[in-house]
Amino acid sequence: MRCIGSKKSFDIKRLKLDLVFEGNNSCLFYLFQNMSHKTTIAVAPGDGIGPEIMDAVLRVFNAAQVPLRYDFVEMGRDIYLAGHSTGMTRKAKMSVEENGILFKGPLETPKGVGVKSINVTARKVWSTYANKRVFRSLAGVYTVFSKANIPINITVIRENIEDTYGGIEHALTYDVALCRRFITRPGSLQLHRYAFEAARHKGAKKIACAHKANIMKITDGIFLETFYQVAKDYPDIAASDIIVDDLAMKLVARPETFEVVVLPNFQGDIISDLCAGLVGGLGFAPSANIGDNISIFEAVHGTAPDIAGQNKANPTALLLSGCMMLRHLRMGDYAATIENALLFALESGARTADFGDPATSVLSTKDFAQAIIANLGNKPAQTPLAEVGVSEANFQKPLKPLAHRMLRTENPPAGDIMGADFFIESTKAPDEIGKEFTQLCAQDYDVTTISNRGTQVWPEASLFTELIDQYRVRIERKPMAKVTQTEILQFAGKVAGAFKICSIEYLMAYGGKKGYSLAQGQ
Ligand code: NAP
Repeated sequence: MRCIGSKKSFDIKRLKLDLVFEGNNSCLFYLFQNMSHKTTIAVAPGDGIGPEIMDAVLRVFNAAQVPLRYDFVEMGRDIYLAGHSTGMTRKAKMSVEENGILFKGPLETPKGVGVKSINVTARKVWSTYANKRVFRSLAGVYTVFSKANIPINITVIRENIEDTYGGIEHALTYDVALCRRFITRPGSLQLHRYAFEAARHKGAKKIACAHKANIMKITDGIFLETFYQVAKDYPDIAASDIIVDDLAMKLVARPETFEVVVLPNFQGDIISDLCAGLVGGLGFAPSANIGDNISIFEAVHGTAPDIAGQNKANPTALLLSGCMMLRHLRMGDYAATIENALLFALESGARTADFGDPATSVLSTKDFAQAIIANLGNKPAQTPLAEVGVSEANFQKPLKPLAHRMLRTENPPAGDIMGADFFIESTKAPDEIGKEFTQLCAQDYDVTTISNRGTQVWPEASLFTELIDQYRVRIERKPMAKVTQTEILQFAGKVAGAFKICSIEYLMAYGGKKGYSLAQGQ
């Protein structure tokens, strides 16, 4: 017998019995597993409604005789509170890295204790760069679109590692906080290649890249540029782009016109919850976090603390996430059997409380799982049959790398420093700052613009522009030419004698192309 925290395992010949306990020591669920010819995956039941829905899903998997062996791992709220700042034990990390698959319930990151979200940490640490979320109309789930007979089948591919989710934030002054937004060329290329493969496997005729490159011309500009670069390799799929706010409106007005949408991380997070709303709510939204070595499968929703422990949560999203995982593991036949049983049960009226259907009585989480189990082998009559399907990913158990992999553009153009932006704290008027900086620059540099919250306030400005106590002052070589890093840092020494410098950013140009934006109004 092995005892791992809240789990006890008994190995009896080729059968393994896992007992998973709640905090109060009552047995939450048990699993008998035949250990022959099985693929091992790490399973984190999760917090809140997590253990209930994971129990329901694994009951369905076991009834369908899915050839998986579950290594239950410790992650989430209690693990943080036990002093693991990453929210996972070392053993959990080792299991995920050895098996290459984490199937997880939603996890809670305790608030007010200064720790980072375990969900984001897991996605980033294991380089699961593509978050695939599938939003499909399901029989019996009542929405304005199902009532109007408008079927929805949208796949959102969201970048999963970069953007503001680096969580790199600093207070520049007491009044001003800054969050860095990283969009990288190799990261975007990796994501778009996956997105086009996913579109091809879906049989989609078109793919849209959503962005805000009209405003964030360099960051979202890279995202968009790399999208069209990859699109050249997929002439069978019509590629277009759309500004993300326009996308939000069109998704609500005409969701049936979208097949696959690829977005940066933050925009993708918001748009995917919008899509969940289109198909009936978070209880119906599955997701996969795909990496080249490790992948994580989980529902889009969180721990739903308001309904936790009440045996009323809907396990559909986690079950469908599990089916995505089975296809990833090339067990698509099991996925199809389970999905068809789910669709049959839905057509027969099986409902949990969140279906928005006041006409039928609702089932508990456990009974809903039982209704699916009872229909294994049945096929839906009105809904299209679930297909065996082949995953666009090519899963192999990961080999332990010997070093970090560096993603880099081959032969990038040389970069030149053309000047610098000095972010300074000051309550002085823009004219005063302009005058002082011009004196500091002497014959060496020009002060080309001063901005406040990104809006130019010197040399040309509107007195209606309100100020905060933090400016960006741009200096460029006089006459326009490249500068060395040492020269900028020597000049910084002069600036530091007159102002508090919050940070310095070089003005880079690659192959003569500016890598920095103008100020608003410049
Ligand atoms: P949430 O847990 O997704 O729940 C929002 C609401 O959606 C719930 O109150 C419930 O609404 C409904 N809901 C969600 N899943 C459902 C299900 N399976 N069945 C039925 N109804 C469901 O969002 P939240 O309240 O913002 O977040 C709660 C916690 O979860 C936070 O600690 C957050 O950090 C964490 N979280 C974790 C993940 C993850 O692990 N990947 C993702 C998101 C959030 P009703 O009011 O109708 O009952």
